Amino acid sequence: MNQRIQEIYRPVELRRRDFDEVERTLSFDELKGQAERCMNCGIPFCHGTGCPLGNVIPEINAAAGAGNWEKAWNILASTSSFPEFTSRICPALCEGSCTDGINSEPVMIRQLEKAVTETAFRNGYVKPLIPKSRTGRRVAVIGAGPAGLAAAAALNYAGHEVTVYEKNATPGGLLRYGIPDFKLAKKIIDRRIKLMLEAGIGFELNTEVGRDVSGDYLARRHDAVVLAIGTPMARDLKIPGREAEGIHFALEFLQGQNRVIGRECAALPVCATGKRVVVIGGGDTGSDCVGTSVRQGAESILQIEIMPKPPVDRSPSTPWPEWPYMLRTSSSHKEGGERRWNLASKRFLVEEGRVTGIEAVTVEWELSPLGKPLRFREVAGSEEIIPADLVLLAMGFTGVPADGVAAELGLKVDERGRVQPAPERGIFCAGDCASGASLVVRAIAAGRRVAAEADRYLAGGEL
Ligand SMILES: Cc1cc2nc3c(=O)[nH]c(=O)nc-3n(C[C@H](O)[C@H](O)[C@H](O)COP(=O)(O)OP(=O)(O)OC[C@H]3O[C@@H](n4cnc5c(N)ncnc54)[C@H](O)[C@@H]3O)c2cc1C
Repeated sequence: MNQRIQEIYRPVELRRRDFDEVERTLSFDELKGQAERCMNCGIPFCHGTGCPLGNVIPEINAAAGAGNWEKAWNILASTSSFPEFTSRICPALCEGSCTDGINSEPVMIRQLEKAVTETAFRNGYVKPLIPKSRTGRRVAVIGAGPAGLAAAAALNYAGHEVTVYEKNATPGGLLRYGIPDFKLAKKIIDRRIKLMLEAGIGFELNTEVGRDVSGDYLARRHDAVVLAIGTPMARDLKIPGREAEGIHFALEFLQGQNRVIGRECAALPVCATGKRVVVIGGGDTGSDCVGTSVRQGAESILQIEIMPKPPVDRSPSTPWPEWPYMLRTSSSHKEGGERRWNLASKRFLVEEGRVTGIEAVTVEWELSPLGKPLRFREVAGSEEIIPADLVLLAMGFTGVPADGVAAELGLKVDERGRVQPAPERGIFCAGDCASGASLVVRAIAAGRRVAAEADRYLAGGEL
């Protein structure tokens, strides 16, 4: 088998009707063929260049292909805190730098990771990481997203007494409240939290640092602090009519559905049933809005993007083994709705206080010689009205506010909204709050890295 398996999702007609995970489980024979493709490789760029965690992909795949699941799991778990999350929702940076991708198609590394992980859970290889002894040092982790959870797991295993402070009622961060169930089922997060509790990690839920307890108070009561609060501020679209009813940030919409998995959308503050939905923003968040609107029974769904349509194949501006700039079509895009590019929104049309449409204009992009979009200009006379009853803003995040927790901990926030750590005072930062909005795999990698730094600090070693 020299190619990837194309059909990895449940049939559209079935998955549109439920919130169960869209991806089907691949058979061992299918996966064995993929693992064998991996064995033809000379230099594994996936491991060295692609994966932020440094997963030892060829060795994992060799063991999995031979049916030695326990060995495959042990190698995977040595670098990855939560492969059950990344194997479902990672865009698979490793596959972007897979050697097989030069002349053919990348090996299906993410699906192999999922098979190894789920087999390990099924066979009882995944155990709580209980430390052999305790150091007596106390660490506060603020935020229970993937970065905070990864830091907490590693610091606890190093023997420190770890408490995670989380403002929501349940841990997971965007894994739970942003990413829909059809990509990552909440029971997968619950399964991991149970292991973390068994390992001795404390969770103080419904506790917003900066409101229920001050950052300064936490810093005084702990020997080190890891700040992992994500990027709470969504980018707004301040054009005329923005104050109308029916215009919401994507996360208001996704959070609502994620809190009531299933179809009880009518009771939610934002619901797409019977509506003409327009999603502004072409990334992952926008795609999740499309999939959720499909399941809620929207009348129509249009996702618009100011950027030009990316090329169908890898752009020469991102040669192998870089992560390819190219058109990405998610499982949600295959379920319904339409996508358009080169459209800038000028104003919202409003009747009796409610949005009824968007005035948009076509833009033309100037491209670099390698095809990278540089600047755009509006095309005169190209204005059009796009009808809409529900507009979802999915245009990214602007970082962390300079006041609040960052200020209480005496931390600076740079011009791009990223918090700067103060390791000399035992305060470390990980994940989106430190790097800007990014990916789950990078948040986990940052959590692990920061945990190692905090551990050195607590041991009195060099930073
Ligand atoms: C809709 C959506 C879909 C996405 N899809 C993908 C995807 O498919 N694949 C992928 O790799 N990435 C995806 N991402 C990005 C990914 O979710 C983030 O990069 C990742 O979750 C960042 O992890 P984090 O731990 O830094 O922050 P978060 O996940 O944001 O977690 C931060 C946590 O801190 C808590 N918190 C904040 N302030 C306080 C406070 N003052 N006190 C206590 N707790 C606080 C929050 O409640 C939250 O639980 C998506 C993002 C969104 C919004």
